[in-house]
Amino acid sequence: MNQKLAEENKKKLLDEAKRIRTVLGHEGKLDGKGEFPGEYKPDFPEVGREEGENASEVEQYASNLAVTQDLEDKLMNIEAALKKIENGTYGVCEMGDEIEEDRLRALPEARTCKTHAQ
Ligand SMILES: [Zn+2]
Repeated sequence: MNQKLAEENKKKLLDEAKRIRTVLGHEGKLDGKGEFPGEYKPDFPEVGREEGENASEVEQYASNLAVTQDLEDKLMNIEAALKKIENGTYGVCEMGDEIEEDRLRALPEARTCKTHAQ
């Protein structure tokens, strides 16, 4: 593993994790009353109370939920990558081979090489 790249990516990953936590904190609210206490719930926007407007309200909610889920997934991958940097296994594909350097530059939290990404 290219140690310099690992160090560069560690910084990127830490910055990105911080950014995602900020976004999740702003865009979702912690209500602690859901199925999973303490998780972030996306805002449910009051688009309108007319019958015909409920559909867009639901669509908006679904899209916020998808964004929140994407960010949570990404944060999980980032934390896994940071852990790998700490224990010296960063850059190893989940299938056991090496992840290409250009892939790691483009996607520091990549879990797999290009071959196994599909
Ligand atoms: Zn692989």
